[in-house]
Amino acid sequence: NKATLVDQTEGTKITFDDVAGLDEAKEEIEEVVQFLKDPKRFTRLGGKLPKGVLLVGPPGTGKTLLAKAVAGEAGTPFFSLSGSDFVEMFVGVGAARVRDLFKQAKEKAPCIIFIDEIDAVGRSRGRGSVIGGNDERENTLNQLLVEMDGFNTDKGVIIMAATNRPDVLDSALLRPGRFDRQVLIDKPDRREREAIFKVHTESLTLAPELDMGLLAGQTPGFAGAEIANVCNEAALLAAREEKDAIEMIDFERAIDRVIGGLEKKNKLISPDE
Ligand code: ATP
Repeated sequence: NKATLVDQTEGTKITFDDVAGLDEAKEEIEEVVQFLKDPKRFTRLGGKLPKGVLLVGPPGTGKTLLAKAVAGEAGTPFFSLSGSDFVEMFVGVGAARVRDLFKQAKEKAPCIIFIDEIDAVGRSRGRGSVIGGNDERENTLNQLLVEMDGFNTDKGVIIMAATNRPDVLDSALLRPGRFDRQVLIDKPDRREREAIFKVHTESLTLAPELDMGLLAGQTPGFAGAEIANVCNEAALLAAREEKDAIEMIDFERAIDRVIGGLEKKNKLISPDE
């Protein structure tokens, strides 16, 4: 039962232009693009390239998107795994699976391995829950550490991982030679929300009065994923009413819907409030 790595960018090249805002993060991560394009250029004086970049921030803020954009900019394949898949699906074979996946990735270098929700597999060892499978998870985590130590980045394999719980990560993951670079991906401010609205309305038919600045002002606290959702909802609402273009009112109704959805979700999480 081998898992084969599948390049998830094939046919859809994502670049930094698709990522709105996040200027600082993009700047920090541009270095990784340069490493992937030409690893030898950086190592000729004996230096070692970073192996892992940890993207830290709330859900839906573009961590996966940014990692894909690095692959797109560097022209490398993008292999993505989820920390929770490792723990749930690979019972009994987690460590072997990690070994095998790294082997495959090395054969396809230069490339990016992206591990979403790394906290699922990377929680600190020895103080987790008592629910079964914990040893299994620790074995998997140990193997991940072994693999990260064992390869040489000259080959151009960079591991990117995302989490919104950096506080629970095993400190061993953050040591030099592992995820030694951390990039913060925060929720967008007003200006960034406006930019995200622009990206996500590019392919939509908009009424001329549409004002992205106003929309940005009406969506405090929204992450990029929610803004993408608003734009799509607005297009569907306008189409249902057989309009020729999407108007402000459609966006406003879509915003209300998305806020309603978020409130419902929060109620499910904390029912007493
Ligand atoms: P999670 O932690 O839930 O996995 P994430 O931070 O990885 O979330 P993404 O999956 O990258 O978030 O974002 C989901 C979608 O939201 C993206 O595919 C994109 O459509 C939109 N999005 C999020 N942030 C941005 C952004 N900065 N610019 C443009 N689109 C964005």
